[in-house]
Amino acid sequence: MELSKRQQQIVEIVKNNGPITGEHIAERLDLTRATLRPDLAILTMSGILEARPRVGYYYPGKPKNKLISEQLKKYVVKDYSSHPVVVKSEMTVYDAICTIFLEDVSTLFVINEHGDFIGVCSRKDLLRASMIGQDIHTMPVNIIMTRMPNLNYILENERVIYAANLMIEKEIDSLPIVSKKDNGNFEVKGRISKTTITKIFVSLFNE
Ligand code: ADP
Repeated sequence: MELSKRQQQIVEIVKNNGPITGEHIAERLDLTRATLRPDLAILTMSGILEARPRVGYYYPGKPKNKLISEQLKKYVVKDYSSHPVVVKSEMTVYDAICTIFLEDVSTLFVINEHGDFIGVCSRKDLLRASMIGQDIHTMPVNIIMTRMPNLNYILENERVIYAANLMIEKEIDSLPIVSKKDNGNFEVKGRISKTTITKIFVSLFNE
C-alpha cells in the first residue's frame, strides 16, 4: 500500500512517540484532529497503526521473522568479508597443508603469476592428494585444485543471502569474493564462509 506523505509522517511520529493520542499527533503536524481523521482511519484499518481507547495510537511493528528476512535482504557480502588466504599455484601440497593449519581456514584460493584467481583447494582436496602415494613435497596445488570453469565465486556487491544459497547448492564451505580485473580475470578480494553466515544468523536474533 502506497502511503501519502502525511500518512508517512504520522507513522513516523507514532513509531517514535507511541502510544500517542490523535490530538498530540495533530499538534505535532500543526493540523487539526479533524483533518487527520481520514488518515488515521486508513492507517488503523490497514493494520499499520493500532489504536486503543484512552491510550492512543501505537505502532504494532512487524513479526520478527519478517523483520529478519527484510534485514537479511539488505546485507551485501563485502560488508561481511573475511581475510582470504591466497596461495600461488606452484605451492606444494605439503606447504598448502601447513598453510591451512597456520591460517586456520578450510579453503585456499589459488592465483597465477599475474594474481588472477585460478583455483580452489580445500581440506578434502589436500587429504585426497596425500593418500594417492605421490610426493606431496613436490606436487604443486595446481594439479589437485578445482579450476575454471568449475569455480564458484561472488562479486562484492552481491547479497549475503545469494552467497548462502550458492554454498548450499554447490555443497561448499566458502566462496571467494572477487572483483573483475582489466584483463577479464578475477582478483580475490575477500572470503565468505558458512561460519560467516552462522554468525550473521545469530546476530539477527540477538538484536
Ligand atoms: P572440504 O573439502 O574441506 O569439505 P568444501 O566442501 O568447501 O571443503 O569443498 C568440497 C569440494 O568443492 C572440493 O573439491 C573443493 O575444491 C571444491 N570447492 C570448494 N570451494 C569451491 C568454490 N568456491 N568453487 C568451486 N569449487 C569449490
